[in-house]
Amino acid sequence: MVQKNLIDGEWIAGSEAFRNINPSDTNDVVGEYARASAEDARAAIAAAKAAFPAWSRSGILERHAILRKTADEILARKDELGKLLSREEGKTLAEGIGETVRAGQIFDFFAGECLRLAGEVLPSARPNIGVEITREPIGVVGIITPWNFPIAIPAWKIAPALCYGNTVVFKPAELVPGSSWAIVDILHRAGLPKGVLNLVMGKGSVVGQAMLDSPDIHAITFTGSTGTGKRVALASVEHNRKYQLEMGGKNPFVVLDDADLAVAVEAAVNSAFFSTGQRCTASSRLIVTEGIHDRFVGAMGERMKGLVIDDALKAGTQIGPVVDESQLNQDTDYIAIGRQEGAKLAFGGELLKRDTPGFYLQPALFTEATNAMRISREEIFGPVASVIRVKDYDEALTVANDTPFGLSSGIATTSLKHATHFKRNADAGMVMVNLPTAGVDFHVPFGGRKGSSHGSREQGRYAAEFYTTVKTAYTLA
Ligand code: ADP
Repeated sequence: MVQKNLIDGEWIAGSEAFRNINPSDTNDVVGEYARASAEDARAAIAAAKAAFPAWSRSGILERHAILRKTADEILARKDELGKLLSREEGKTLAEGIGETVRAGQIFDFFAGECLRLAGEVLPSARPNIGVEITREPIGVVGIITPWNFPIAIPAWKIAPALCYGNTVVFKPAELVPGSSWAIVDILHRAGLPKGVLNLVMGKGSVVGQAMLDSPDIHAITFTGSTGTGKRVALASVEHNRKYQLEMGGKNPFVVLDDADLAVAVEAAVNSAFFSTGQRCTASSRLIVTEGIHDRFVGAMGERMKGLVIDDALKAGTQIGPVVDESQLNQDTDYIAIGRQEGAKLAFGGELLKRDTPGFYLQPALFTEATNAMRISREEIFGPVASVIRVKDYDEALTVANDTPFGLSSGIATTSLKHATHFKRNADAGMVMVNLPTAGVDFHVPFGGRKGSSHGSREQGRYAAEFYTTVKTAYTLA
């Protein structure tokens, strides 16, 4: 059966379909999904535009009920949806279920936010005049998502968009349509009026581009590569629309001489390799001061030897496969580049064979890397990390901040002085002390600086900034 697109409340098959392949076992077809055309995208945009006036004025109880019901169903089906996610994306079952729970929590959070919509009332600077400041929805929001968090990223964009009264055209990544289809189905059955949420699965260059080119999309929220982010930005400037970008990272994880070695190694292994290194918050630059360098590298090698890399759905697997062949080629190309640049491949980096055909790669650790090398400057998006040796904390901080990106930044230290200084001076949107650079809560702001992000923060109450526009009203008493 082909899973269809949702346009104006109708499930539409279209003329083409594409297959969703399991990266742990390429013989396993997860499902077939309708491929939307540019025309479908335009129909979805028109439906969202037509649905906006009524939805923007819908009652907070209606919105609350739909988001709450969605949260409940996602959480009740966490094992099944988590398995679907792991099957289509390749992260481990524990990670897939964890991400699904997070999606449920996000819908729950924004269900609550519908009931807390508020403004401000204040006196004017002029006598006998009152001022009200309120937030209003923006209109049609275009949502374009990547493959690495197939349910959490759609959730953290769709939930606030609907909560604040916007209508949505949603284009998930082609590699992982299953999780997106599932949450759209849940929201549709939870009672969303037709046209409020439209799903158009398909190619970025066709469906995504049709969204960028439409004057009827009033805001676009995008997570993905830097190159596509730039296209979103340029098209949005052209149409004078609001836009929000979450793009790459090259996140540093600093290890100081005074770190607890076990804490540092655990956080570094998690940051660099969990979810197969395919997180924008992953750390691929381990910046280590010279007094602990050799002990840290030794302990990393020991810890990496014990990692279980296998089928994402198998019990005991700690690291699943890379998402597809083209990403695997990118990872192995960077491993070759690192060697050519003179870094030492201290551990891993080989392709692995498992029971089923899949994209298995032994996590790779380089040592003797410098911050100037391409492997230290460009986002690899795989289980490949480099150790950069530095003299002291000051040099570590300078190297950590010397990057075009600024999403997440971590440090392992037992020094309050250094932890405090790092929190204040790390040039990143998120800072982690004695914790992995990845792994964030659902109810607080997410986002970065410099080349990593553009626009206001996602998640938590800060999401209102993007999904609403502010009105200031003056009344003569
Ligand atoms: P990734 O490397 O994570 O696949 P992309 O930026 O290519 O990063 O993809 C992120 C999302 O952007 C996907 O949903 C993809 O289909 C979409 N996309 C790709 N090209 C375009 C485009 N020209 N216009 C709009 N969206 C696009």
